[in-house]
Amino acid sequence: MERVIGSFDSGDRNVLMVVVGAIHGNELAGVKAINNVFREIEQSQLKVKGKILGIAGNLSAIEEKKRYLDYDLNRCWTFDKINAVRSTPKADLNNEDLELIELLGILDEFSEGEYEQKVLVDLHTTSAENGNFIVIPGNPSEQSIVRSLKLPMIIDLDRYVHGTLLQHMHQRGFLSFAFEGGQIGSEKAIDLHTHGIWELLYQAGAIEPKNDFKKLLHYEELVGSLHAHLPTTVKVLHRHKIERQDYFRMKPGYQNFQRINKGEILAEDKKGIITSLFDGMIFMPLYQNIGNDGFFIVEEL
Ligand SMILES: [Zn+2]
Repeated sequence: MERVIGSFDSGDRNVLMVVVGAIHGNELAGVKAINNVFREIEQSQLKVKGKILGIAGNLSAIEEKKRYLDYDLNRCWTFDKINAVRSTPKADLNNEDLELIELLGILDEFSEGEYEQKVLVDLHTTSAENGNFIVIPGNPSEQSIVRSLKLPMIIDLDRYVHGTLLQHMHQRGFLSFAFEGGQIGSEKAIDLHTHGIWELLYQAGAIEPKNDFKKLLHYEELVGSLHAHLPTTVKVLHRHKIERQDYFRMKPGYQNFQRINKGEILAEDKKGIITSLFDGMIFMPLYQNIGNDGFFIVEEL
């Protein structure tokens, strides 16, 4: 797979949008969606206003169909880590170090210049059901284009999870968010991501009014068909952090935003059962044997 899936620059300064797929190598919906969008732009010769870039995240992990090889490429975007990697001789760099350096090079080059709006969309999929939501640092304004995605927004996950690409780009002045499109491997996630990108391009003024592209822009219908009664905005109450040697196992069947009660058995590990410390909703329960977050508990604002 190529790093740059597609790019376009009309020379206008209205918007700069970067869309990233598969920063976790086993989450391919995003790169497929980016492909769909750029193919359609080319085939239908759509007029794009602004500068857009679609890139693939962890190329070596995509190759191996794994989330990551040496470390999580979405937990390393701190200035300390970046400086450390940049001052290490190339021969001593591991897989993700090399990915990080290459991505930084592209982002640095591409994000030069002043724009009315700079946007970074980081596409992900999850291992649990009902995995359609937005992770964004801080509560975005009512006018923000991210609101057009009409998905639950998790506004303070950055207090618990550090070194994400979206935090890094947020610090660089981008409207920056993770867009979770659904379950890993599902066709619906590709569809939601594809039409979500169209919706964002339209909302950002990068493509023409919606009426001209009715067929393309049926995002609202797609979102409407998702599980009803999802919360609008949630904040995190608790993170259950895990290590590989904990032998953590989530109790089967939990979906994102499913209600849970204090004392409810949620999982077990080598020390025994793990119960909920709060009344709330379960969020990102881990159903793959890689990662450091067992689950989160969130509450609606
Ligand atoms: Zn991911």
